[in-house]
Amino acid sequence: MRKKIVAGNWKMNNDMAETEMFLVQLKKQVIPEEVTLMIAPAFTNLNHAFQSVREHPVTVVAQNMHQSDKGAFTGEVSAAMLKSVGVETVILGHSERRSIFKEDNELLAEKVNTALVNNMTVIFCIGEELSQRETDDHFNVIAEQLEEGLFHLSEAQWNNIIIAYEPVWAIGTGETASPEQAQEMHAFIRKTIADAYSNSTAKNVSILYGGSVKPDNAKELFGQEDVDGGLVGGASLKVDSFMEIANSLQ
Ligand code: PEP
Repeated sequence: MRKKIVAGNWKMNNDMAETEMFLVQLKKQVIPEEVTLMIAPAFTNLNHAFQSVREHPVTVVAQNMHQSDKGAFTGEVSAAMLKSVGVETVILGHSERRSIFKEDNELLAEKVNTALVNNMTVIFCIGEELSQRETDDHFNVIAEQLEEGLFHLSEAQWNNIIIAYEPVWAIGTGETASPEQAQEMHAFIRKTIADAYSNSTAKNVSILYGGSVKPDNAKELFGQEDVDGGLVGGASLKVDSFMEIANSLQ
């Protein structure tokens, strides 16, 4: 059975004091048993967050990592470093990494390999831009991101892959894919995985939707058959809205 997940991507928000305030409040919440709750603070706060929620059902996730094991890569962080502070899950291929930091599918495939060799779980983000949807290219773009980023993996390695479908035009814009658009793409992603691997692999992979998920649209989005939860940006920065979204997944 695939997991239901709500993951908060904090991006470059929340310093140490703000992280601590968030965690104090979060630890007072009742987290629905069937939901895997994840937060992705900045690198500087991962260690503190991990220690703070040790006794709570919250997974602390990194927003990125380097593809090499170690070496002369000023400013970068390795898988082993993340693991040394307790972090075992990493977001790779977020559209901001792809567009601002020019990470392409080839580089992301390398990062995925490094994460998996280090026994980490990967939340792999894919999504089309508005112009690609407008020219009806969105299915091709998604298929290519899957093929080039993930389809070199063995079937067994898919146990450690979570997909986040995040249409770029819906990230941080307030614009959300309709539940029908989300379901259509999630079903396409699952079918593409089934064709490349098997029905059981496709059935077991969690596919999250991301793109302006809010308390008032989460229930409808999460109600779609192939939507297994959400990767949430802006609305994950406040405990109240984050928990409302998590509770919508039950
Ligand atoms: C994200 O950054 O992954 C995201 C989906 O952001 P937002 O929810 O703010 O659109």
